Amino acid sequence: MSRAEEIIARLLEHYERRWRPRRGDPFRSLVRIILSQNTSYRNEAAAYEQLERVIGVTPEALAEAPVERIAEAIRPAGMHNQRSRTLKRVAAAVLERYGGDIAPILSKPYPEARLELMELPGVGQKTADVLLMFDAGKAVIPVDRHIDRIAKRLQLVPPKAAYDEVRRALEAAADPDRYEDVHVLLIRFGREVCRAQRPRCDGCFLGDLCPYPRGERIN
Ligand code: SF4
Repeated sequence: MSRAEEIIARLLEHYERRWRPRRGDPFRSLVRIILSQNTSYRNEAAAYEQLERVIGVTPEALAEAPVERIAEAIRPAGMHNQRSRTLKRVAAAVLERYGGDIAPILSKPYPEARLELMELPGVGQKTADVLLMFDAGKAVIPVDRHIDRIAKRLQLVPPKAAYDEVRRALEAAADPDRYEDVHVLLIRFGREVCRAQRPRCDGCFLGDLCPYPRGERIN
C-alpha cells in the first residue's frame, strides 16, 4: 500500500462514515454549490431557504428577479452582491441554452459534461465536479480549499500543484466507490484537525505519515 493509499484508508477508517449522495433537481444543487463557496453550511442553508421562500429556486424565477432582491435574499451566505449576479447569469444561461433543464448534461460522460458545465457563468472546475459527483454519481473527487491544503501538507502533490493534479493524485489512491466519502471526510478533517490556521498536529491520526510538522519531505 502506498503512503497515499494508507492516508486515504486511515481517513475512511477514522471517521467510519458513508456519505449518502443527494440526487435531486440539478439546478437547485448548482445554486446550493454556488452559495456554499467560502461559507459555512449553516449560512449557505439559511441563504438557500430564504432564496427559495422569497424568490424561488428555478431558472425562470432567478432570471426574472431583480438582482438586488436576489442579493438581499442570499445575504446570509456573504458576498451576496457578487453571488447574486452569478446566480442571475447562470439562470439566464440555463434557460437560454437548455430550456431550463441541465439534467441532460449530467447524463453525458464525465469529461464532456464537465466541459459543458464549465461554459456556464460562474461554474469552474470545482463547482462542476461537485455537481457531477453528488448529483450524477460520477467518479471524481472535487478539490476544495481544505482538500488542496491537506494534499499539499501531506506532500501527496508538489506545493504548486494545480487543481487537476491534486484531484488525480487523490483519485489514484482511493477506491472509486468511496470517492464521495473521501471528498466529504477530507473537508471534515480540514475543518476539525488539519485547519488552515493552527492545525492540530498533536494527536493527529495521520501524524506519522505526515512530513508537515517536521518540515521533511517523504518521497
Ligand atoms: S499532522 Fe498536522 S499537517 Fe499533517 S495532516 Fe495532521 S494536522 Fe495536517
